[in-house]
Amino acid sequence: MRVLVANHPLIAHKLTYLRDKETDSPTFRRLADELVTLLAYEATHEVRVEPKDIVTPVAPTTGIKLSNPKPLVVPVLRAGLGMLDGMVRLLPSAEVGFLGMQRDEETLQAITYANRLPDDLTGRQCYVLDPMLATGGTLAMAIRYLAERGADDITAVTLLSAPEGIKAVGNELADLTIPITLVTGAVDERLNEHGYIVPGLGDAGDRLYGVVD
Ligand code: URA
Repeated sequence: MRVLVANHPLIAHKLTYLRDKETDSPTFRRLADELVTLLAYEATHEVRVEPKDIVTPVAPTTGIKLSNPKPLVVPVLRAGLGMLDGMVRLLPSAEVGFLGMQRDEETLQAITYANRLPDDLTGRQCYVLDPMLATGGTLAMAIRYLAERGADDITAVTLLSAPEGIKAVGNELADLTIPITLVTGAVDERLNEHGYIVPGLGDAGDRLYGVVD
């Protein structure tokens, strides 16, 4: 797995406010949205394009347009939803599929509870959105799910990642032969005994949408 860690002062600045426990939900949502748009710029570096002939007011020329099939953006519910608008702002013609995954807080294993995706993803470039790469269980499962349906190029976008999670995803997906890329806003120090990223930002879903259980 190729790992790209954003190295930009604006991303570091927004992440600092995102992490701050005093930041309220509306501000957290806005910052997450802005961060994803910045990360999406990096994540779409290899998006597939094809030539397009046009005529400007001055002369004919050849530009490029996104190839078909269009990329598929897959937010992992629920926290990944907070990244969707920021991503499709940059890729408005992308299709969107949903994958509901949750980690069992005792076993820290990922469970799939919802899926709204095309069955056949042959030849599709996919962008998986999940704010926190912690143990890596959810992200590895989501990527494998897409790869098994035919996706042939998968980029995961996360706001924060733990070194343990990056290692685990790389190991768990070592058998896949398609290109897999992780674009992340920062790699933090470690996971704590509850599987939270340290220093992290707490529970991303709760901070985006409030505590439900
Ligand atoms: N999920 C979160 O929302 N936060 C973490 O720190 C780890 C997993």
